[in-house]
Amino acid sequence: MGTVPPDPGLLVVGGGHAGLLLALAAERAGVDVAVLDPFSLDADAPADGRCLALLAGSRAAIEGLGVWWALEGGGVPVRAMIVAGGSDRPVAYRAADLDGRDFAHGFESAALRNRLAAAVRARPRIRRHRGRLAGLARDPGGIEARLDDGTALRARLVVGADGRGSQVRRLAGIGVESRAYGQSALCFSVAHARDHRRRGYEWLRPDGPLALLPVAEGRTGVTWVEPEAKAGGLAALPENELLERLDAETGGVLGAARIDTPVAVFPLGVQHARRYAAPRIALVGDAAHGVHPVHAQGFNMGVGDVAALVALLRGRPGDPGAADLLKRYERERWRANAGRILMTDGLVRVFTGAPPLRLAGRAALGLVGAVPPLKRLAIAHGMQLGRGASG
Ligand SMILES: Cc1cc2nc3c(=O)[nH]c(=O)nc-3n(C[C@H](O)[C@H](O)[C@H](O)COP(=O)(O)OP(=O)(O)OC[C@H]3O[C@@H](n4cnc5c(N)ncnc54)[C@H](O)[C@@H]3O)c2cc1C
Repeated sequence: MGTVPPDPGLLVVGGGHAGLLLALAAERAGVDVAVLDPFSLDADAPADGRCLALLAGSRAAIEGLGVWWALEGGGVPVRAMIVAGGSDRPVAYRAADLDGRDFAHGFESAALRNRLAAAVRARPRIRRHRGRLAGLARDPGGIEARLDDGTALRARLVVGADGRGSQVRRLAGIGVESRAYGQSALCFSVAHARDHRRRGYEWLRPDGPLALLPVAEGRTGVTWVEPEAKAGGLAALPENELLERLDAETGGVLGAARIDTPVAVFPLGVQHARRYAAPRIALVGDAAHGVHPVHAQGFNMGVGDVAALVALLRGRPGDPGAADLLKRYERERWRANAGRILMTDGLVRVFTGAPPLRLAGRAALGLVGAVPPLKRLAIAHGMQLGRGASG
């Protein structure tokens, strides 16, 4: 019989964006870590049409975790964001409004995951397990995770990074508040004739926002929100007709274009776990919270979770599943994320609500654009910079 490796301190359930970032950051902080996912971390995930804006505050947080090297060069720096609240003059947010820093980095979702997975592979101390979590059992010394093939993995702390339908959350008996928006996001990337000049766009339309994000190889990621039935209809159109509609919605800013990923449709909803911790268990990323894609907050909130949890783990060598540590994590992150959820939910209500509300939203956007201190405040908050980024 071979020697059985010692239990890791931390078992991360879910090798998506949040789980892989946590594994890398925790290992860097000296925690013995393993990560579990049903999909192999040795293979690249295929493009799924979705793109993510990693905001300036998240870049700073990932640099602070010592993990930016994993993403360096993989995303496209966004130098300006043009936001329009209807037919009014759009508000341009430029790098100069942010002390010359990039607003965000544009990534295709699969490329971001693949970069993180490659970085995990390059860290041999991070153990990788392939399988699906089916059960959890605690004992005084730790916690045992049972996989659906009967394998058992022990740890001192299990972190659920297993997405919106989190099995960890369910097994921990943590409830979740959720609401569907009745909207879906149509997502795909396009190669196009006009240079994107590292500019992102967001149109806050009554039917739902439409965003363009510069991504790798001079291409652009499209996130186009519509009422559910309309989104399904658009996704079924032939490529040339879909591109004609996109051209009409965006005033032709991309020029002639070609779709080069699948056209995916994501039904949208908001959800928030009632708690982020239970004995020897914590939740991060979408397992803890899910928001509407307006203003690109989703994974960025997950980055804040990872930064907060790793700061606590680093400051407290010993038992990573200690009850007071988990309580602190929950206290810090639940409140911070509740504020973000309120903000994104408010934006959806204002810009897709009844006409008086929409008018008020457009007036507020105009005011923000015209008053420089308000603009700076809006940018710092929106980009998750300073307080509120991770606490
Ligand atoms: C249309 C759209 C646009 C978006 N745009 C942005 C944006 O611009 N900026 C932004 O910050 N965010 C954005 N988001 C949100 C972002 O995509 C998510 O917040 C992020 O991908 C969540 O990562 P995660 O790792 O928490 O969860 P997931 O990516 O869902 O990963 C969960 C992982 O857990 C694994 N898993 C599931 N069940 C089990 C189990 N039982 N056992 C083991 N493993 C399991 C899965 O295989 C998966 O690998 C957007 C989302 C959508 C839908």
